[in-house]
Order: sequence, then structure tokens, then C-alpha cells
Amino acid sequence: MSGLDVYDYCSTYYRKETMISAYKENVYPVGSKENWEVPDSVKALIVYPPEGRIRVGRPKKNRCKPHWERNAKTFKPIKCSKCHQTGHNRRTCRNPMKNK
Ligand SMILES: [Zn+2]
Repeated sequence: MSGLDVYDYCSTYYRKETMISAYKENVYPVGSKENWEVPDSVKALIVYPPEGRIRVGRPKKNRCKPHWERNAKTFKPIKCSKCHQTGHNRRTCRNPMKNK
């Protein structure tokens, strides 16, 4: 690693120059609400509350996985015990030769 500049491996966001340039321009305070200049297009906007019921408690973080993802390591396609073909089981078997 000798002879290499550590800043070549770091994002420019972490550099001092970037931080200084962020505050180089003037930042004006918003002021009191009476002095706001709100455009008519913004005044015309009406924000409605969200549709539907708001559920109690923390929202679910995990997605409901389909059966082939639940145990991907041990997943085997279903196999018919009558005709031994994959993709259906004995109840939905449509193989007429061995369907007795
Ligand atoms: Zn079958």
C-alpha cells in the first residue's frame, strides 16, 4: 500500500473541500409563515389522508415467501406417486394409463 493516496479510495463526499463547498452559498432562513410566498399551483394542492385502515402495530418487515423460496436448499418439485412424473400429485393426475 505504500505510495498510494488513501483519498483515492474514499468518496469525495467525505472530503473537507466538499463539506466547505456545501456551505459556501448563502442559506436564507424561511422566516415567519405570514411572509411566505406560496405559488398558486402549490396552494391548489389538497393532500388527503391515506386510503384504507391504518393497521395497528409495526408493519411486517419480511415478505411472504412462496414455497420454493421458503426452503430453497431442500426444495424438490412435487412428484406424482401414481405415474412418477413431476409437476402434479396423485389427486390431480391426468395420466389415463395408470389412473386406476
Ligand atoms: Zn400422475
